[in-house]
Amino acid sequence: MSRKIKLILLGAPGAGKGTQAEIISEKFGIPAISTGAIIREAIASGTDMGKSAKSYIESGALVPDSVVIGIIKDRLAESDCDAGFILDGFPRTVPQAEALDEMGVEITDVISIEVPDEKIVARMSGRRVCKKCGSTFHIEYNPSKNGDNCVCGEPLTIRSDDAPEVVLDRLRVYHDQTEPLKDFYSKKGILKTVIGQEKLEDTTALTLAALEK
Ligand code: AMP
Repeated sequence: MSRKIKLILLGAPGAGKGTQAEIISEKFGIPAISTGAIIREAIASGTDMGKSAKSYIESGALVPDSVVIGIIKDRLAESDCDAGFILDGFPRTVPQAEALDEMGVEITDVISIEVPDEKIVARMSGRRVCKKCGSTFHIEYNPSKNGDNCVCGEPLTIRSDDAPEVVLDRLRVYHDQTEPLKDFYSKKGILKTVIGQEKLEDTTALTLAALEK
């Protein structure tokens, strides 16, 4: 594919956006940018931004728009984004999407990965993450080749906001604040929908086909 891809991956938490972002990033050689990962790194290294974001993340609430818009503005200004990029977890509100427009960022594709809430809750309990390299796995659908350890060797952990009661809050937030973005991008004529499949490779095939369309 020769065109430049500036892709937004939409979908509920746990719908598989992060994994698809990693796969597309590798295939097309463009960065996958996860605001959640950037915030978690800031929390781990104890920066001011991390300290102020911590309570929001832990309760499943959204970090204020001004904070995440600032993060994205800085990240998109880096030179590796010139060839295109994938946004995973941003925008999550209509004002965040409007901020992208105001920055003059011309998104080429928006893919919404659709998974019913009850499947999300079941999936999240099996999610495992690597605190060192950021890779994400699922004990059933996408296991690490190293068992309980990451492919980089680090022991895998469960994200604190993947606890079932927090997941329900995150789903509520998704339906209230993020799902309206489907309408926002549908009106711009760039929304594509992918039905999340049981098998990772089946979802990937549908996502890549949506990008070809
Ligand atoms: P994620 O890794 O994308 O599931 O994000 C984890 C958490 O980070 C979310 O539940 C929010 O608390 C915060 N977060 C990540 N991206 C955003 C965003 N675009 N807007 C507001 N909060 C965000």
